[in-house]
Amino acid sequence: MTDRPGWPGAGRNPGRGPAVIAVGLAAVALALSACSGAGTAATGAAGSAPPPSGPSASPLATPDIPGVPGEASNGTSPASPATSPAALPLAGKIIGIDPGHNGGNFTDPGAIARLVWNGTAWETCDTTGTTTDGGYPEAQFTFDVARYLRADLRRDGARVVMTRAGNDGVGPCVDRRAQIINDARANVAVDIHADGGPASGRGFTVLEPVADGPNDTVITASQRLGDDVRQAMLAGPAMPVSDYTGVDGIMPRDDLAGLNLTTVPKVLIECGNMRNATDAGLLVTARFQRQVASALAAAVVAFLG
Ligand code: ZN
Repeated sequence: MTDRPGWPGAGRNPGRGPAVIAVGLAAVALALSACSGAGTAATGAAGSAPPPSGPSASPLATPDIPGVPGEASNGTSPASPATSPAALPLAGKIIGIDPGHNGGNFTDPGAIARLVWNGTAWETCDTTGTTTDGGYPEAQFTFDVARYLRADLRRDGARVVMTRAGNDGVGPCVDRRAQIINDARANVAVDIHADGGPASGRGFTVLEPVADGPNDTVITASQRLGDDVRQAMLAGPAMPVSDYTGVDGIMPRDDLAGLNLTTVPKVLIECGNMRNATDAGLLVTARFQRQVASALAAAVVAFLG
């Protein structure tokens, strides 16, 4: 979720499952700021994001996830030995993926409540994210979709940079996530989230950056990417455009570090509303998650093509 302060869903959390533990934290963190954050809150836990160290560091530093079909042992292997790497649609491209939040964020309220500069204002390092009524956390959803997307992109020949390597850690902060993708000089990037909107509201929303200085040169390209993502989502997963926020599935946002600080074309997608029972029924399934990943991969290919 990417709640503004005062957003209807801000600070809410279902009173069951893992969310019970997170309630106190969410009340603090979500009331202050949106999903995207930055800084150096990553700890030594297994899920901590790799340190940025230039264009070649992050993709190979991200371990492959067992059980995700098509995931190669490195960031560049083509899927089929019969296909020339140069013939793959994303050969030579670097794609950034930021799976929002992290599964361990609720364990360190102090770290994720720390304020970081998002380019226009102070924002909390991160939040816990939202959950479904059944207790499925947004952080798990974003990481699951990211793994499927990474596999799809690698099959198409891309190198992939992810802002975190697992779902057991804390952070990194939202400004740090933006920096990781900027440092990798990604050709394009997607921040993956699911919303914590009103229970009556359905649908996905594509959040686009607003010019603020650091991102000035990628606004037009990000808007084009946003159109590609919207079209791919409408053509793929059974998720409608949001009926409670944005306009026709698109919403400019000027308060999120991930968009304010980006120097590469980027959008943030709220893939659905975890607080809505119908959306949640889709969001928790691997089938839907794979469909979202396929749609995002198709959008990246369309954008770079
Ligand atoms: Zn989120």
